Amino acid sequence: MKTAITLILAAIAAGMTGCSREPSTANSAPAANIAPLLTGEDAKDVHSYADPLTARVTHVDLDLTADFAAHTMQGTATLDVLSSAADPKLTLDTRDLAIQTVRDDQGHDLTFELAPADPLLGAALRITLKDARRVQVRYRTSPDAAALQWLSPAQTAGKQQPYLFSQGEAILTRSWVPTQDSPGIRQTWSATIRAPEALTVVMSGERIAEPKQLPGGQREWRYRMEHPVASYLIAIAIGDLGFQSLGARTGVYTEPSRLAAAANELVDVEKMVAAAESLYGSYRWGRYDLLVLPPSFPFGGMENPRLTFATPTIIAGDRSLVSLVAHELAHSWSGNLVTNATWADFWLNEGFTDYFENRIMERVYGAPTAAMLADLSWDDLQDTIKDLGPEKIGDTRLHLDLAGRDPDDGMTDIAYVKGATFLRTIESTVGRERWDAYLRDYFDRHAFQPQTSAGFLKDLREHLVKADAALEAKLDLDAWVYGTGLPANAVHVRSAALEQIDQRAAAFTREGIRAAEAKDWNTSQRVRFLNRLPRKLTGSQLAQVAAAMDLDVQRNSEVRFAWLHLAVANRYAPAVPNLEDFLNSMGRRKFVLPLFKDLMAQGPWGKSLATRIYASARPGYHSVTVGSVDKVVPLAAKGQ
Ligand SMILES: [Zn+2]
Repeated sequence: MKTAITLILAAIAAGMTGCSREPSTANSAPAANIAPLLTGEDAKDVHSYADPLTARVTHVDLDLTADFAAHTMQGTATLDVLSSAADPKLTLDTRDLAIQTVRDDQGHDLTFELAPADPLLGAALRITLKDARRVQVRYRTSPDAAALQWLSPAQTAGKQQPYLFSQGEAILTRSWVPTQDSPGIRQTWSATIRAPEALTVVMSGERIAEPKQLPGGQREWRYRMEHPVASYLIAIAIGDLGFQSLGARTGVYTEPSRLAAAANELVDVEKMVAAAESLYGSYRWGRYDLLVLPPSFPFGGMENPRLTFATPTIIAGDRSLVSLVAHELAHSWSGNLVTNATWADFWLNEGFTDYFENRIMERVYGAPTAAMLADLSWDDLQDTIKDLGPEKIGDTRLHLDLAGRDPDDGMTDIAYVKGATFLRTIESTVGRERWDAYLRDYFDRHAFQPQTSAGFLKDLREHLVKADAALEAKLDLDAWVYGTGLPANAVHVRSAALEQIDQRAAAFTREGIRAAEAKDWNTSQRVRFLNRLPRKLTGSQLAQVAAAMDLDVQRNSEVRFAWLHLAVANRYAPAVPNLEDFLNSMGRRKFVLPLFKDLMAQGPWGKSLATRIYASARPGYHSVTVGSVDKVVPLAAKGQ
């Protein structure tokens, strides 16, 4: 046992530093691309049944057929397992899977037990391995698999073909892949996928063969990911997709009728990759492509490796919302390369990425643009801290306690913006040059490994603070990570361009707004103006704002959201058709959830609107969005 540990340690020593890392034991010489596990208490994942120190999955090979009539994926997952225990049990995470057989690589049945299901975590699948180190699970997904959204042709832009996409983060991959579904247990993967011949299969890996025509109107597609990744990053989409190149190693997939608009919007992607590399080191994933999804995609973007999934709400027509691309691209370092070991440290993914996103935006579009974005985020953070209030003050910590809770509870602006503000505060304390050199080395040191808050702080103290007591005191690191609220040394980036807008908003009740001035404002300025207006306005004041800013026909999703947020707070009836259209036309949770909360706070007027709109919009939303809105608009959930 000890020898085996030494072997693995030797194989991965290059990437290891002080933290209490101890990989699991091996039954044979380890492959080079097996990532280490963290074994400290702080790396214990309360959202996975896996016991990786007894037996861990190192590779997943999928062989699945997508059945668009039954809304299921059917086939096998063949898992490579590392263990040196005598007669070990392999524990996998599953959710709503119909398990048919479990066999070793000789085709012999293995004994297994599927435990009773927990509504959030799903059901543990415990397999008695004996000598087997490769296990094949034959299974079928449920039509209601939480990770998979099956769209009818009517729910697509082209209206001719159905569509499927997956969303694995945080703990949904287990509803379509039986594996150890914990971000701390990295796995390489490969996949063979069969789908109707008219459709294109894309995945978050490298396509390793041309699609093969099969009898019966099917085509077969093959992908692989050679780097060990967290299971939430295994992703698939199948639909009528076109592709347009954006640069030497970048491109965009989307439905053919949307391709030209998407490519036009994303023209700067290649520049962004170059900017990111110049900041924090080479891009390690080969290609960087984007998939622009149909409107029901629940997030702004999802950083699936090699293939960012993005909401169509970023296609504003004026390239004003491309910071989202900078964000997802930044995840190729923070999140995908160095990954939170558990969801309690989600800020290690999102705070780092929000910070890095802003640095990319600064490099590509200049400091004033980056300052506007950072200043707007600061507002969002203040709102989040206020909304969480004294009751949920614990959730203003970066390192969260999510035991017994949905990891989605931790997906607030605390992880994103407080996290980014923490890193910005370190930057301004030690100076940009020193900080950038540290961060670049940090990504190298921890590439393809999990990380915890404690691990990051240890690394920071070892390589940046270096026992400088005055610096340690100035940074106040533990207060940032383990304390509530915002520490006193927090750096607030102020945008001069937004300060002018603040003055205009403050003068609004006296001076009103003129169309001539509003027409020159960019998206950030428009959003800021709407957010800084007095929260209580009369109908005629709102009508004046709507007219001056063309808000009835505004299609920029961020501006539209800010306007509807204000309009609902004033029960402004003329905005209701716009609201209804917006909530029925996309399912991005960032917009959908707050607007339903706004409505529910407006007495019978808002409640009846919320119930009516949700009843019609809910079937088009993803399970992630439905899961959140159901808690806010309970009546509409019944009978859907
Ligand atoms: Zn992110």
